[in-house]
Amino acid sequence: MNLILMGLPGAGKGTQAEKIIDAYGIPHISTGDMFRAAMANETELGLKAKSYMDQGALVPDEVTNGIVKERLAEPDTAKGFLLDGFPRTLNQAKALDEILSELNKGIDAVVNIHVAEEILVERLAGRFMCRNCGATYHKIFNPPTEEGTCDRCGGHEFYQREDDKPETVKNRLAVNIESSAPILEYYEAQGLLKTIDGDRDIDEVFQEVKTIIE
Ligand SMILES: [Zn+2]
Repeated sequence: MNLILMGLPGAGKGTQAEKIIDAYGIPHISTGDMFRAAMANETELGLKAKSYMDQGALVPDEVTNGIVKERLAEPDTAKGFLLDGFPRTLNQAKALDEILSELNKGIDAVVNIHVAEEILVERLAGRFMCRNCGATYHKIFNPPTEEGTCDRCGGHEFYQREDDKPETVKNRLAVNIESSAPILEYYEAQGLLKTIDGDRDIDEVFQEVKTIIE
């Protein structure tokens, strides 16, 4: 089963990825892991990627695609794989098709975990900290036992980091929505896109993922 997992930040993609690899024994192939492995093993492409990153430059598509191809050619992908974080652009999606056809493989399904933007903002922008001791809370998932009082130090002053503020979160989501839209359309046109409602219990979402896979 060759799968691509898609979903905006906060949609619960990481949790579902873990469940899928546990249940089906296929490797979880994330862009970050691929890059780290290629650099650690000092492959030719890994070293190339590193030279761009060291300069703070974007790694060009041809290098990224090469690393993806090397990874997908490894024997542990014989039973299938779960791609996560790739493709990130329409060009990468097209390159992936070429890579897979060269390897005599194909995509079976693109699982897109969909959660409405307002809910994602609630999930992602809910984090705040105690100004006195730095303890971290979340408005929904992990509020202090007594509202307005830090569990750890009893402090009453809290703040939000720039990254956790609603405006920052909304901008980050907007960028992601814009970049993923053409990829979703591309797979939709090929009849591969399976969109799942991700605003439910983790296990309910996973049941639907399983239905798609099986
Ligand atoms: Zn505190």
